[in-house]
Amino acid sequence: MKYLDEYRDPELAGKLFDEIRETGKHHWTMMEVCGGQTHSIIRNGIDQLLPDTVELIHGPGCPVCVTPLETIDRALAIASSPDVIFCSFGDMLRVPGSEKDLFRVKSEGGDVRIVYSPLDALKVAGENPEKEVVFFGIGFETTAPANAMAVFQAKQLEIANFSMLVSHVLVPPALEAIMSSPSSRVQAFLAAGHVCSVMGYWQYEPLVEKYRVPIVITGFEPLDVLEGIRRVVVQLEEGRAEVENAYERAVLREGNLPAQRMLKDVFTVCERTWRGIGSIANSGWELSDKYREFDAAHRFTVTDIKTQESPLCRSGEVLQGLIKPNQCQAFGTVCTPRKPLGATMVSNEGACAAYYRYGRFAEVESANT
Ligand code: SF4
Repeated sequence: MKYLDEYRDPELAGKLFDEIRETGKHHWTMMEVCGGQTHSIIRNGIDQLLPDTVELIHGPGCPVCVTPLETIDRALAIASSPDVIFCSFGDMLRVPGSEKDLFRVKSEGGDVRIVYSPLDALKVAGENPEKEVVFFGIGFETTAPANAMAVFQAKQLEIANFSMLVSHVLVPPALEAIMSSPSSRVQAFLAAGHVCSVMGYWQYEPLVEKYRVPIVITGFEPLDVLEGIRRVVVQLEEGRAEVENAYERAVLREGNLPAQRMLKDVFTVCERTWRGIGSIANSGWELSDKYREFDAAHRFTVTDIKTQESPLCRSGEVLQGLIKPNQCQAFGTVCTPRKPLGATMVSNEGACAAYYRYGRFAEVESANT
C-alpha cells in the first residue's frame, strides 16, 4: 500500500473484523498504549464494531496528559518572567495549570510563541541574544530525538541563552508499572509504532517474557489498528506471548540507532512523575550532566509551586485502563474539553477528550438513571 486512504479501506476493514470475530473464542482485554491510537479507535467506531470477545482499554500514551501539573505550573512561572521568550508546540498552550494556561500568560503580555520544531526555538534564541529562550520539551521517545538535537546544537553553536524545560517520559517502564499492579486487567498491548520507530522493539521482549503478555507493534490508521488487534487475538487464542511487529513500514527491531546515540548523549534516565498515575522509577529522561547548563529547571529557580488536582478526577484510573472515561461522574458535566478537570480531558489525544468529542456518553447516562 502506498497511500493513506488505502489504510482506511472499508472493504479490507470488514475482512479484518470478520477474521477477528472468527478467531476470538474467548473474551480478551487489550490496551492500546498511545493516545493517537485511542483517537483512531473512537473516531472510526472500531470499539463499537468489534465483537464482544474483544475489549479495548485505553493506555497512558498521551504526552500532554501525563505531564505533571507541577511542570505546567513551572512552565507558566518561567513564561511569565519579563526577559523570557517561551516556545512550545501549540497543544501545550491550552493545558491548564493550577490557575491559568500559557494562552492566559500570553494575553497578560508574556512572550509565548508556538513553534513547530525545537530547532525553531533555537533560531529564536539566536535572533534574540538579549532574551532567555526556553523550549517546553515534553513527550515520549518519539519527540525526544528532535529535542536532543536542539540541545546538542545549542552547545555546538554556543547559544547560551537557550534552555529546555524537559519532561520526557518512557513507555516500557509505564507498561511494567501497569502489569505489576494487582488490579491490572491488561492481557495484551498494542504498542505505538512511532515510539518503536525510534527505540525499536527489543525493549519489550523482557516484558513479554516476565508477564507472558503479547505486545504487537502497530500504527494509527484503522487497518493498522485492526491488524494489530487481529494478531493479538491470534496470539492469545494460541496461548502465545511474543513481540510482533505489525508496523514493518516504519519499525525495525533495533530502531533508529543514530537517534538513540543522540538521546544517550543528551539525556539520562530518571524517575518521573506521571500526572494521574504518580512516580515511576526510570520512566523519564532529563538532560545529562554534559548538557545540564541548558536545563531550564536549573536555570530558573521556580520554587514554592504547590498543586492540587481535582478530587473528582479519576484520570489515573483512566490512564491505567481501570475505568472508561464515561464511567467518571464528572465526564461531560463538570469536566469538558473547554473546562477540563484532569489530565485526560486536557489534550486532543486524551481518552476523556476522545470520548467527549465522539459522543460516548452512554455509561454516564446509564449510571445516572
Ligand atoms: S472526565 Fe474529567 S474528571 Fe473524569 S477522569 Fe476524565 S479528566 Fe478526570
